[in-house]
Amino acid sequence: MCRDRSRLSCLAVALCFFVLFGTDPSFGAADEVVRVAPFSADVTVPLGHRCMGVLPTKSKTIDDPLDARGFVLLSDNQQPIVLLALDWCEVRNGAYDEWRNALAAAAGTTRTRVLLSALHQHDAPVTDSGAQAWLDKVGLQGELYDREFHSDCIRRVCEALKESLATAQPVTHLGLGKARVQGIASSRRVVHPDGRVDFDRYSASGGNAFHANAPEGDIDPLLRTISFWNGDKPLLALHSYATHPMSHYGKGGVSADFVGLARRLRQKDLPGVPQIYVSGCSGDVTAGKFNDGSPQMRPLLAERLHKAMTEAWRATQKQPLTQLAFRSAPLELPFHEGEEFKREQLLAELENGQLKTETRILAAMSLSSLDRVERKQPIDLPCVDFGPAQIVVFPGEAFVGYQLMAQQLSPDTFVMSIGYGESWPGYIPTKAAFDDGFGHGWRWVARGSEAKIVEALKKVLPETHVTK
Ligand SMILES: [Zn+2]
Repeated sequence: MCRDRSRLSCLAVALCFFVLFGTDPSFGAADEVVRVAPFSADVTVPLGHRCMGVLPTKSKTIDDPLDARGFVLLSDNQQPIVLLALDWCEVRNGAYDEWRNALAAAAGTTRTRVLLSALHQHDAPVTDSGAQAWLDKVGLQGELYDREFHSDCIRRVCEALKESLATAQPVTHLGLGKARVQGIASSRRVVHPDGRVDFDRYSASGGNAFHANAPEGDIDPLLRTISFWNGDKPLLALHSYATHPMSHYGKGGVSADFVGLARRLRQKDLPGVPQIYVSGCSGDVTAGKFNDGSPQMRPLLAERLHKAMTEAWRATQKQPLTQLAFRSAPLELPFHEGEEFKREQLLAELENGQLKTETRILAAMSLSSLDRVERKQPIDLPCVDFGPAQIVVFPGEAFVGYQLMAQQLSPDTFVMSIGYGESWPGYIPTKAAFDDGFGHGWRWVARGSEAKIVEALKKVLPETHVTK
């Protein structure tokens, strides 16, 4: 394409392209080295703390700790990229910004280049600084989350990040592996004998014969593992699988649940290789077909996931790392259409001392999100592009359909979708799920979300593939 143009004008065209699409020049210069610095810190919630935002029973015991695990990708020719996975339920609005601002400052990069996701365990906190500020106004200090604990977690994770930078190692190769997971994921959507459709197969529905026998439904059965290598030395493994991560919850036993147990088993197998787990897009996916919620199921589900992690590692194919690009698209999702989500109604609920605290917390969370939507603060939809593989972080409880759409938009590459990024939207049903009448109080977005997300996905996924 450069035949009729000078070398300089070619460069100008290339620069314009990168400016227009917000893309970093692809890595590939002979002298460019990418390095990775893994870091981790404890973010276990204190006793007496709210879990899942609205569970009536606060934390009573620490069954196992909650981790923050992440890495920084460093390159000579572009700003660092940070990925952090928290064993928390959700991080929303101002709290999400606080985490990303602090991590960006610690890594020496911009907030856009910080990929943050919660794994979505339910015996773990939900944080939203705007919601807690609304609660403070009506005397419900600390009812959603403990600000001091939150700030302390951010501080300690950022310290761990900064310390890790000195230990960064060169990444020469990218490893990609997949394995089919048996006996965990099933769709919440079930079709009853009379043709009625509902989404009531929850995480522990397996004790019910109908839910245990209904087909798995639309899921993504694959666990995906991306690994970084320095020659023959593995540096880090990042695993993703699309399911709600709960075996049982709600009794005050803080836990990283079966996904955390599986990660720790894998960490014991490979002590020198940091293991990071993220939940895929799984708003409508649970272990409900296979899990009856009894305590013995937690280690069993962990074993099944651990087996898939091991198999994906064995199946890993390495190739030289020749590209590191980053793109991000702004996403403005429409707010819930219901009358009960109007400001006046929400304020009345928040201020009504006769209502349950949990109801008032939900109203505060809604107000915080409404504030955000009204000030037109978009969600970032980021994509790290390694060439043959991409990592995309989706907001909230995006349904698994979004993960499948991302794969369809880039069919020749290995797309790792991560759910539970900016989590104010709650459930993000696909158009098909809206058509099926999906309804739930944990939904803050309206119809039309799918078109917006697909539009943003097309901007961030590799261009050559999306035009197919
Ligand atoms: Zn959920």
